Amino acid sequence: MKPTSHHFKENAARALTDVQLQRALGNIGEGFVNKRASARDALPEFDALRDRAKAIKDHTIEHLDLYLEEYERKVTEAGGQVHWAATAKDANEIITWICRDAAALSVTKGKSMVAEEIGLNEALEGAGLEVVETDLGEYIIQNRHEPPSHIIAPAVHLNKDQVIADFRAKHTHLPADRQLDEPSALVGEARSVLREKFLRAEVGITGANFLVAETGSSVIVTNEGNGDLTQLLPRVHIVVTSIEKLVPTLEDMNTLLRVLARSATGQDITAYTTLSTGARRRGDPDGPEQFHVVLVDNGRTDMLGTVFQDMLRCIRCGACLNHCPIYNAVGGHAYGWVYPGPMGAVLTPSLIGVQEAGHLPNASTFCGRCEEVCPVRIPLPKMMRHWREREYDAGGTGLLPRIALKSWAFFARHPRLYRLFAGPAIAALARLGGKRGRLSWLPLAGGWTAHRDLPAPSGQTFQARWRAHQRAQRKRRVRGKR
Ligand code: SF4
Repeated sequence: MKPTSHHFKENAARALTDVQLQRALGNIGEGFVNKRASARDALPEFDALRDRAKAIKDHTIEHLDLYLEEYERKVTEAGGQVHWAATAKDANEIITWICRDAAALSVTKGKSMVAEEIGLNEALEGAGLEVVETDLGEYIIQNRHEPPSHIIAPAVHLNKDQVIADFRAKHTHLPADRQLDEPSALVGEARSVLREKFLRAEVGITGANFLVAETGSSVIVTNEGNGDLTQLLPRVHIVVTSIEKLVPTLEDMNTLLRVLARSATGQDITAYTTLSTGARRRGDPDGPEQFHVVLVDNGRTDMLGTVFQDMLRCIRCGACLNHCPIYNAVGGHAYGWVYPGPMGAVLTPSLIGVQEAGHLPNASTFCGRCEEVCPVRIPLPKMMRHWREREYDAGGTGLLPRIALKSWAFFARHPRLYRLFAGPAIAALARLGGKRGRLSWLPLAGGWTAHRDLPAPSGQTFQARWRAHQRAQRKRRVRGKR
């Protein structure tokens, strides 16, 4: 997928006037947010589990080399093969080679953000293979030639009528007058079309939510069971995933699963949790003849030891997206690459550079909800601030914001001057705000006031109010002594 993250502002402006998109985004708050809150309330040890999950991920990332080696050893012992891909290009070449070696014509695919990141579908289609997405949301957007707009709900930006129209256009072999109004009818139709694809594919590709070093297993969670059919029916199973998905033991995986499902969809546990360990063994009733794992780096080792290392804890639950006022206003496509919302605002510049994606960390009100709900306690606002500094240093910040920031820095370093100017300025703004206490226009703040009023300040600086408070307290103490 070619990034358009540097067009974030234009993308966001377009999204804000897209009536259909706005209606679809309106449903997110009611769904995911409330379900997560209920799941959290029903589990008293939820916050303790989050601490444990954070500790597991921190420990693994600090010893990543050792756990990766252990994982490879266990996969090999189980009859599988691990391939190391330093870049997206390497990963695509390895997977294409495995498909060619298997004389494959058709590939089924489970949902994988890493596959989106490396542009796997385009690479395989370019090599002449048919690629079929088997997750319902991914299948819907594949038919529209669109990227996902959410990391766990790829088609959340669409409404039912759009999906019905797409199914009618795509499935022309079915009767034109069939009823598709009920969601169950759409699911049934997708299932019947995909069944034939499942049976025909020579290769099945899945991602992995976790890799377990102790056993060499890869773990996927789905609510549709499509991942199981993708990895069990074809002759060859390829797992494509990134190196930070590792956890040391099955017990650690269990802890992470408990916070993943609750944070993502508000479920106690996702409907299907499937562990794959090696290829089919003698006597197994089913399973692939070949089992390959393609471990993608693509910039992650460059994050180790930096202020962005904490981002490698991310377990892709999507909670930060669901709770983000910016994501909820503009949707995922505005972010212009694979990873949207607060996690994308940190991860995208790390993977494709601040020149391309330096705008994204500005798409935050710093309300802190993303960090508050993150199951592995990633300090997203702090890391966005680091990216803002780097964007500034790289010259990506516009002239007016640069002047404003430089002026602010000057006054912040000269508190007397700050007090001299801030007092009268705040008093004047309070007067301008009038009885309503709001400003509908302000020079240099057009980006804010074009869409909403700016609350006027109270009329006094915090320092003036603090001094007044201290004076009042002193007076009270003196009176008390008399
Ligand atoms: S940053 Fe945290 S909340 Fe966001 S997707 Fe990753 S784990 Fe989930």
